[in-house]
Amino acid sequence: MRWSGQQLQTEQVGALPGLARLNNLVRSVQTPEFAGITFHEILCKSALNHVPGQSAMPFGYTINPYRGCSHACTYCFARPTHQYLDLDAGKDFDSEIIVKVNVAEVLRKELAKPTWGRHPVALGTNTDPYQRAEGRYRLMPGIIAALADSGTPISILTKGTLLRRDLDLLVEASEHVPVDLAMSIAIYDDGLRDDGLRDDGLRDDGLRDDGLQQSVEPGTPTTKARLATVTAVRERGLDCGVFLMPILPFLTDTRAHLDEALRQAKAAGATSVLYSGLNLKPAVKDWYLGWLSREHPELVGRYHELYARGQYAPKEYRTWLAARIRPLIRAHGLERGVVDPATGGIRSNAFPSFPERMPPPAARPPARHPAPVPPASPVPAASAVLNGSAMPAASAAPAAAAIRRARSAEVPRSLIAAELPPDLAPTLF
Ligand code: SF4
Repeated sequence: MRWSGQQLQTEQVGALPGLARLNNLVRSVQTPEFAGITFHEILCKSALNHVPGQSAMPFGYTINPYRGCSHACTYCFARPTHQYLDLDAGKDFDSEIIVKVNVAEVLRKELAKPTWGRHPVALGTNTDPYQRAEGRYRLMPGIIAALADSGTPISILTKGTLLRRDLDLLVEASEHVPVDLAMSIAIYDDGLRDDGLRDDGLRDDGLRDDGLQQSVEPGTPTTKARLATVTAVRERGLDCGVFLMPILPFLTDTRAHLDEALRQAKAAGATSVLYSGLNLKPAVKDWYLGWLSREHPELVGRYHELYARGQYAPKEYRTWLAARIRPLIRAHGLERGVVDPATGGIRSNAFPSFPERMPPPAARPPARHPAPVPPASPVPAASAVLNGSAMPAASAAPAAAAIRRARSAEVPRSLIAAELPPDLAPTLF
């Protein structure tokens, strides 16, 4: 979300400090079904984020219906984006979720402009569009319908099995626009907890057997459930890639784990696998190393050594990892699609290298979507509403210094470009 474009002008009494500066905050909500999570419902003024530096990215635009993510992956590279709201990159990122309740409505208006060039649009490049909140707010159906109706290619990356809810709509959209789907699945230790353990916590086949997936990604669906979602997508006739990332040094980079991961992805029907190593930006590094020191204190020293020079593991490690995994990806028949000889990139449905691969709007049959799904209404009800039933836009003196900081700060969208690992040619997304 382009916070710098959201006109931080009005402070709301009683709201969290960073949120208080948003004059588009509708209300903050807690519900029994989402214990420990607060939803901050806002009216956004823009839905499409333009990604700077298009030459390096296969996508020029993204949509982030949510900020923060209850999937709570300890390694999540989007964590620092919460700091722009004076929320922290740790617990707040997991539990203070910004919801753009009118995102689909705003998107339709943006896509209707004659200047819109039907550029491919990516979802899931920052926070997860199918995180748990989506079950409550149902923003994605309206977004998918708006994109398809406007002839805009769609790309979705998620860890959320809720994707299955929208498969009918995505299948229909794929009849009108290119659609790329991918599940992010990094850890494959489901069902390995009861047998074959060695004293050091590794199975004889080298798989660490300690519930790693649910420990490091505590809010996510299980690996098994995500693989079943890959299968469900494939059964509907759509391609589905798997993002095997991040690969965690000394935890999931054994040959046995990588081989097992690729075997499971292939068995689920994945059409390709992209991988990358772990990237630890400063605020993320603190949070991840906090988890590591609790769960695997024996590895903390090795991580400090590995990430001593910056947010990426050194080139030697990345080269070693590539040499280990690439032959396995090839052996499992999961290479990243077809190389485009003109660009050296990988051909993608949603991100054609050349505009001419996209037929002009007139050549496409009109989308037959039903009326766009209305923006999720602020859900009332059983919820305990913080600070009153709806926060009035009470005016107060703007926090000038904080506003200046927010406006001068690097906007979160630039993280998309900045955070992609250098060894990942971002060809699918
Ligand atoms: S699902 Fe993605 S966006 Fe959400 S916490 Fe995990 S890595 Fe971050």
